[in-house]
Amino acid sequence: MSVTPEQSARTVLVTGGGSGIGRAMSIAFAALGDRVVVADLSEETAAKTVAEIQAAGGTATALRVDVSDEESVAAMVAATVSAYGSLDVLCNNAGVLDSMGVLEDISLAEWQRTIGVNLTGVFLVARAALPHLLESKGSIINTASEAGIRGGCGGPSYTASKHGVVGLTRSIAYMYREQGVRANAICPGGVNTNIVQGEMSEQGFGRLAGVLMNAGAMAEPEQMASVAVFLASDAASYVNGAIMPVDGGWFAG
Ligand code: NAD
Repeated sequence: MSVTPEQSARTVLVTGGGSGIGRAMSIAFAALGDRVVVADLSEETAAKTVAEIQAAGGTATALRVDVSDEESVAAMVAATVSAYGSLDVLCNNAGVLDSMGVLEDISLAEWQRTIGVNLTGVFLVARAALPHLLESKGSIINTASEAGIRGGCGGPSYTASKHGVVGLTRSIAYMYREQGVRANAICPGGVNTNIVQGEMSEQGFGRLAGVLMNAGAMAEPEQMASVAVFLASDAASYVNGAIMPVDGGWFAG
């Protein structure tokens, strides 16, 4: 898949860019010549991704953001446009896992945290970015999950949040289809990142590990980033509202 240089003169905003899939997306877009804003709750990891990009000759800026906070999101989008003058591609990628417990064990606080980051975060960032994306006829790539298209691979709040991201993606795609803004979602299966190594409970990991054996192996973050690059490119100019499993065949089964 080739991407033309003209296509690459874009501003790309990646949330959760300090780690895992978002880091890989940031590096992949920067390698194409795009200007990348790496936004994360952790300023330190965002800065690390930016340092990697700059060491490779790319252009990037680090920002701290809490995607579940309206003011923080508004400041991030304003800083992006003020740094680079436009916003062409939004990768709504920041996310947290829940405890993978059964429904009776999910506290309201846990529910609200997961929905707040994974779903409300995507809404807030997309809403703040839209005026700029309408101007640039840009595109949105939401990182949903396999848990956005089936019920057996995340806890209740994570699964509900990611199903919400899928619905929101379709809504945006349909709503803005005549105005040239596209929205698509990728649904990773298991990807080798901190979220599966750190936050997941032993019980949850066991459940996922069974699934990963079905897929053959866990993916690397770069295998998600390459799909985001495609979805943001002119090669995908007629791809809108797609909910794309990137899971080694798990969903197919
Ligand atoms: P990760 O933990 O490596 O990265 C997530 C990043 O999001 C972190 O850098 C974290 O600091 C950031 N973040 C968390 N809360 C935030 C907030 N409130 N505001 C801003 N940033 C915040 O995990 P990852 O696997 O790279 O996750 C990226 C996305 O992929 C998530 O949305 C996750 O749900 C999704 N996903 C991951 C897998 C997997 O197997 N790794 C599978 C399906 C979907």
